[in-house]
Amino acid sequence: MTAKPKIAVYKMSSCAGCQLEILNLEHVLLDVINAVDLSYFVMARRDSEPGPYQIGLVEGAVTCGEEIEKLKQARKECETLVALGSCACYGGLPSIKNWTPQRVVESRVYENPAAIHSTTAYGIDYYVAVDAYLKGCPINKEELVEFIKSALLGAKPYLRPHSVCVECKLYENVCVAVSEDIPCMGPVTTAGCGALCPANHKACDGCRGPADDTNAKSLAQTFKEHGLNPGDIKRKFHKFAGMTPEFDKGADIL
Ligand code: SF4
Ligand code: SF4
Ligand code: SF4
Repeated sequence: MTAKPKIAVYKMSSCAGCQLEILNLEHVLLDVINAVDLSYFVMARRDSEPGPYQIGLVEGAVTCGEEIEKLKQARKECETLVALGSCACYGGLPSIKNWTPQRVVESRVYENPAAIHSTTAYGIDYYVAVDAYLKGCPINKEELVEFIKSALLGAKPYLRPHSVCVECKLYENVCVAVSEDIPCMGPVTTAGCGALCPANHKACDGCRGPADDTNAKSLAQTFKEHGLNPGDIKRKFHKFAGMTPEFDKGADIL
């Protein structure tokens, strides 16, 4: 019998919600465990098997020197390295701190900021080469399963390049932007969540980061014309993926 591919799950600065989604696979979790060996997964197992691993799933933004070293080690021991969730893809929610001076942020959170040695929050590809990006805050479970299946079959995974609006139309959702003038990030955000928020009558918040070939600047201009103030527009684009050049353009509205 051939050995099962070994998977490692690493955690950087994150809320652990994306790792939790692996355990939330419920109906297919046993199939996944039968197909792969979750060799290093601190949240799920007491012991760990040493590398090398076929796939490394890295959750979280990199926000300190210790994590940079841990990440470089992960890159060395994994054949395929995947950014798991928007924190790992772009900096995600931890990157909100990047727009305020470091010392100010630290003293808001810690009683003794002198003991803190954090850095600007970046996605993992700022430091190492990344083979695939599973976007979302948290990731979409089905997309993760699709990715694992493709990896097992040696096929290219289908990661959607288009925007949430496309999915929204496919599911025949009512557009909250058109029908109720609610500012929605869907036109510039990567699909793959099944247009989850608009399907529940909420605007997309941009958690999956920029889709391919989008025009964030134009959407920001539309938000402005519809009465959103520049501070709110900036916060919208900075919330999950402000470190990407595209969303930074949207945030640059005056
Ligand atoms: S992407 Fe969201 S859910 Fe995943 S670790 Fe980051 S904050 Fe948590
Ligand atoms: S609700 Fe948002 S995502 Fe859906 S079609 Fe309208 S703008 Fe696009
Ligand atoms: S609709 Fe937007 S905010 Fe909601 S889950 Fe999808 S990408 Fe994230």
